[in-house]
Amino acid sequence: MEQMTAAPPRIPQRKNPGTRYEDLYKSYVTYASPDAIEAPFMYQEYLQQLIRASPADPEALVAVPPNGDPLVWQYEHLRQFCLELTGLVVALHDECSDQSCPEMKANEWQYLCAAHPTPKNCCAFDYIVHTIDGACGLLNNPKFFPSRVSMGTPAVQQFGNIARRLYRVFAHAYFHHRAVFDRYEAAGHLYARFVAFILKFDLMDKDTILIKEQ
Ligand SMILES: [Zn+2]
Ligand SMILES: [Zn+2]
Repeated sequence: MEQMTAAPPRIPQRKNPGTRYEDLYKSYVTYASPDAIEAPFMYQEYLQQLIRASPADPEALVAVPPNGDPLVWQYEHLRQFCLELTGLVVALHDECSDQSCPEMKANEWQYLCAAHPTPKNCCAFDYIVHTIDGACGLLNNPKFFPSRVSMGTPAVQQFGNIARRLYRVFAHAYFHHRAVFDRYEAAGHLYARFVAFILKFDLMDKDTILIKEQ
């Protein structure tokens, strides 16, 4: 039946305490068959397992799965960035306020918040919350993304916009709350994955990547 297909990648899952010996074998799952990867939610599960298995290997994390659709893959990455960026928001909460950061800046750049009918000057923390909420809302908006297993042109056109806005969240943390950024990055390598992602899929111009050293 599948003798013509290449060996699928084996992705170790986290093993819970008390896992029985024979179940350890079952914890090696494969999603490489075309049938499996086209099933709804399989991309998300596949991505989350990769992240658990190799969080510090950004190139491996952004590589399109065998037989996978590169556009659906980008979509799932963006959703995952929104999820994980909320952890950075929590970490910033103690020191990024309307007192410390009355404007959204990254280095000398300043940004207006686009989450309002007319873009306005939200303080950095509000900007970050509004931007992540906006990206998450857009990715879950059935008007733009009616399907999680195939992407239409209007959907794909949003990827660059979303990536550019989410990038500013990292950049604000890096330039204005460096200790928080470093701690969060050491724990989850999220920024390293984000940069590998935007470069691989050409979602941002290189000269708009403000963080030059990592
Ligand atoms: Zn701040
Ligand atoms: Zn706002």
